[in-house]
Amino acid sequence: RPDLAQRILALAGRPIDRRTVHAVNGVDLAIRRGEVLGLVGESGCGKSTLGRVVAGLHPPTEGELLFKGQHADKLRGAERLAYILGVQMIFQDPQASLNPRQRVRQILGEALKVHGLSPRAEIPARVDRALSEVGLDADYRERFPHQISGGQRQRIGIARALMVSPSFMVCDEPVAALDVSIQAQIINLFMDLREQHGFTYLFISHDLGVVRHISDRVAIMYLGKIVEISQASEIFARANHPYTQALLAEVPDVSRRGRTFIPIKGEIPSPLAPPSGCTFHPRCPHAMPVCKEQAPPLDLIAPGHWSACHLNRV
Ligand code: SF4
Ligand code: MG
Repeated sequence: RPDLAQRILALAGRPIDRRTVHAVNGVDLAIRRGEVLGLVGESGCGKSTLGRVVAGLHPPTEGELLFKGQHADKLRGAERLAYILGVQMIFQDPQASLNPRQRVRQILGEALKVHGLSPRAEIPARVDRALSEVGLDADYRERFPHQISGGQRQRIGIARALMVSPSFMVCDEPVAALDVSIQAQIINLFMDLREQHGFTYLFISHDLGVVRHISDRVAIMYLGKIVEISQASEIFARANHPYTQALLAEVPDVSRRGRTFIPIKGEIPSPLAPPSGCTFHPRCPHAMPVCKEQAPPLDLIAPGHWSACHLNRV
């Protein structure tokens, strides 16, 4: 499949209480070059872990991560650096990811200096160019993070990623901490940058509404597994999995009068003791006896549309 720029099979574990919790379990996911893949689920479902695995910040405990057809964990030297710089991560809280003691010009220039990617004399011009690409003027160069508003700080985080000319951005809840009015501006910035640079995005959010307008495809994750994946338009028109349907019911719809809010019943279970069978069964309004016993596989239910639910098999 030559059209696949990235293909991952990640089984990532993090130790808790000396036991291993598989935050992401047997996820097999291919992200195509130039695509925006929205990854959606409640907090704690493993989205961030998956994002960190893709960005090379967290090795998969089993399975493999391929970047441009190469095994990412086997890359060394210049090839490893090209991968690490080529896949940039944008975090939810830009405040926490920016060094409070550095000025913006230092924050932006750091990676170029550390890796010797640019003659020092050229760094200031590159800083100004990155600032202008994210819609900030050169006045921001000398500021410290605390002198900048939340939305502008996220622009700085994006400018820092741009400095190393990435091709792929993993955006982990990049607008969740921002006011709703600012969220749209930052999402538009991501889309503008995609048009200019042809970026590929893995766009992680707990909110289906946020990924709606930017994603080509949407993957829904529950307790470390992808339960549904399809074209974004298909997910919004014909959601198949009961969990996806419940998430959709929480997206405010302007065409409905007021806000319909149907909360998903119950808490997300602990990944230490996941429910048997379909892990969504304790919360599913359609659960059947088989759901407690067997985990449903991801079935192809329509062209490009996969869903893991026993309802598709009865
Ligand atoms: Fe609900 Fe059963 Fe489908 Fe799981 S497999 S989502 S419990 S109907
Ligand atoms: Mg998270």
